[in-house]
Amino acid sequence: MDTDLSGRTALVTGAGRGNGRAIALALADHGANVVANDLDETVAEETAEEIEDADGNAVAVGADVSDPAAVEAMVERGTEAFDTIDVLVNNAGVGTAGPFLDTDYDDAFELNLDVHLRGSLNCLRATVDGMVEAGYGKVVNITSIHTKNGVGMSPQYDVGKFSLLGLTKSLALELGREGVRVNAVAPGWANTRMVEDFSEAVTEQIQENNPLGRFAEPSEIADAVTFLASPAADYVNGHELRVDGGQVPIDSWRLDD
Ligand code: ADP
Repeated sequence: MDTDLSGRTALVTGAGRGNGRAIALALADHGANVVANDLDETVAEETAEEIEDADGNAVAVGADVSDPAAVEAMVERGTEAFDTIDVLVNNAGVGTAGPFLDTDYDDAFELNLDVHLRGSLNCLRATVDGMVEAGYGKVVNITSIHTKNGVGMSPQYDVGKFSLLGLTKSLALELGREGVRVNAVAPGWANTRMVEDFSEAVTEQIQENNPLGRFAEPSEIADAVTFLASPAADYVNGHELRVDGGQVPIDSWRLDD
């Protein structure tokens, strides 16, 4: 199976922590140059340093993906360093959610749409022309276990992630004709900051509810992204690859804390 990414450059958003960092490291491990983005520049730099320590090539760029000018500048930095961006991983995410009835519409919905949808659109706008010109490119959007059925009491996050799934399906049809494959990876709960905040009781219930009885390791999410980004998946387009152990999530309101 050809998973060699030598000579390719990947822009990974939200690459400073958790799944994003694991994705950046895995792509670099398969030979890609990496533009490691995060809102928090310090953690993006740590990811880039880890890649360079392993003899890879990386630049770190602190930028808010929801800001189009910042994204333009980031892509300019990336192409100055590595010429082209061939792989875009839209991973930057926020975990904010809460019951529709109790949560302020503007804040929670807007933030989710700003980061997940607007952020991904900004990164696509800034990179896709180059991929179309080259006649080859890979976009991997990180959706969520939430895009299986939705998760009760989490409409803001669901809407943010389902919008990214819709974008994946639609752009695959248009951009596939230009040689640009657009796919998604839907991670289950992984051992990242997001689950660190769960109480012991909630952690136990979620793990028990998972057929495999555990959370994912970020590296397992990264392997799926690497596959889709690589030549091995050149005939995969418009697909959402679920990496969740087969879990059907329990609605948050059913969890005893
Ligand atoms: P997980 O690893 O479970 O996906 P994290 O919260 O650990 O979740 O990682 C998400 C990453 O996305 C964080 O490092 C965070 O700083 C980053 N991020 C969040 N919002 C933005 C944004 N607007 N622009 C760039 N990166 C962002």
